[in-house]
Amino acid sequence: MQSDRSSAMLRFMILELNDKKTAAPLREYKTDISGWNLYPVSRSILLRPERYSQLTPDYVPLIARGCGRSYGDAAQNSDRYVMLMERLNRMIAFDEETGILRAEAGTTLGEILEIFVPRGWFLPVTPGTKFVTLGGCVAADVHGKNHHRDGTFSKHVQGLEVILADGSKRWCTPKQDSELFWATVGGMGLTGIISEVALQLTPIESAYMVVKHHPAAHLEEAISILSSLEKDDHYSVAWIDCLATGKQMGRSVVMNGHHAQLHELPSNIKDPFKFKSRAPFSIPLFAPAWLLNSWTIKGFNEIYYRMQSRKMDKFIIDYDRYFYPLDAISNWNKLYGKKGFVQYQFVVPLHTAAAALQQVLTFLTTNRLGSFLGVLKKFGKAGEGLLSFPFEGFTLALDIPLGNKKTLALLNALDELVLKHEGRIYLAKDARMKPETFRAMYPRLDGWQRVKEEIDPQNKFSSDLSRRLEMDGGAR
Ligand SMILES: Cc1cc2nc3c(=O)[nH]c(=O)nc-3n(C[C@H](O)[C@H](O)[C@H](O)COP(=O)(O)OP(=O)(O)OC[C@H]3O[C@@H](n4cnc5c(N)ncnc54)[C@H](O)[C@@H]3O)c2cc1C
Repeated sequence: MQSDRSSAMLRFMILELNDKKTAAPLREYKTDISGWNLYPVSRSILLRPERYSQLTPDYVPLIARGCGRSYGDAAQNSDRYVMLMERLNRMIAFDEETGILRAEAGTTLGEILEIFVPRGWFLPVTPGTKFVTLGGCVAADVHGKNHHRDGTFSKHVQGLEVILADGSKRWCTPKQDSELFWATVGGMGLTGIISEVALQLTPIESAYMVVKHHPAAHLEEAISILSSLEKDDHYSVAWIDCLATGKQMGRSVVMNGHHAQLHELPSNIKDPFKFKSRAPFSIPLFAPAWLLNSWTIKGFNEIYYRMQSRKMDKFIIDYDRYFYPLDAISNWNKLYGKKGFVQYQFVVPLHTAAAALQQVLTFLTTNRLGSFLGVLKKFGKAGEGLLSFPFEGFTLALDIPLGNKKTLALLNALDELVLKHEGRIYLAKDARMKPETFRAMYPRLDGWQRVKEEIDPQNKFSSDLSRRLEMDGGAR
């Protein structure tokens, strides 16, 4: 760990968050927006507050938007207001003794990493991109490769400020105003605007990871490796070939890793917190719709499986390459063409997982629903967020191109399969589920709706997602 933790409290700037200046009216921009998967697109009225005092629910119906990295319609609002949180990205205070960071909700994980990794601190939980905001991570209660050990993002949140529909500001924690806290984490922005987050960071000794790959010849072996205590590490996730058939169905490469301690670093690394950053690469144009079809994906999977399963020995890699491989290519979503894609992520419980995954893979291969990137992971126990996605079991995430007209109908059939196996689809990645499927998958919805009704009876906070899924129970 770094030695210069001399001052107990690092203050980034003196922020008078309750600034008394009269807020100027916000300018309104009407434009088409979508989630990261480019589907569906809707025309929303964008507002971009520059300061804390402009965070008000005066513009309704309203939904907050972070980096727009969710895959679906959670952060858009047809013909209604969307509040862009990008300018509310100030860090407020950091306690070097406890590792607790207080920051505005528009702060991105990338901004936090840039400042805190060199000081010996890391995020407690991170999704597969750093281009997401604290507010977005709380609202989706995101999970990372360490869910089986460390739970979701909310487990590390010490407190939140939420601006409610009546304009009041409430600080809530897992213990204080806990109903609001557990309805807000995973609540997809529908309880109010998250303005500030206090997050517990994790100490690290270096910016590097020790990684080991375990190839699995088929699904059964992948499940066994992901469940093996002996092979487990702090972070654990598998890339899975979703188009392999026969005896190879479900072949995977399990990629386990942990933060490298000083004694694990090779002698050529002189500064444990320095590494060569990647040159960003950009996709200038939308790719033609045919580019990602079941044949090209099959070919890619074959090469990738061979390449990755060769890496049998432990190796050292910087955290950026390990956690955020896709961030090196900005706009990689354009590879899917203008029609976009659906990211389909579900979780099934341990007792149905083997059969469910086998049937889902059979469904994908039979219907040639290719996924460029298939990710399989074992989740640990569920948290307390009323609409949080993870529970103990296996989760599979797939990127499915939307070039073919039949795809959406096939995905409805896939929902039935997931539901039959007591599974659930992730709201932050949903663009098309039906309301009845959602209700059947989220048994704590009633409890969430009770809190929503109490704090937002007129449903001032709503989104395309909430209307599509009738999340407010019908009151709109
Ligand atoms: C490449 C990639 C990899 C990913 N990997 C993972 C992963 O491993 N695990 C995982 O869990 N997710 C993953 N995701 C999904 C992503 O982490 C979540 O969708 C996250 O919520 C996006 O944050 P955002 O700031 O972009 O929020 P947006 O997409 O803008 O919004 C998401 C939701 O948060 C709400 N919201 C945002 N800011 C606020 C605020 N200040 N107040 C109230 N509500 C707010 C919005 O209303 C919306 O409902 C991945 C996404 C991508 C593109």
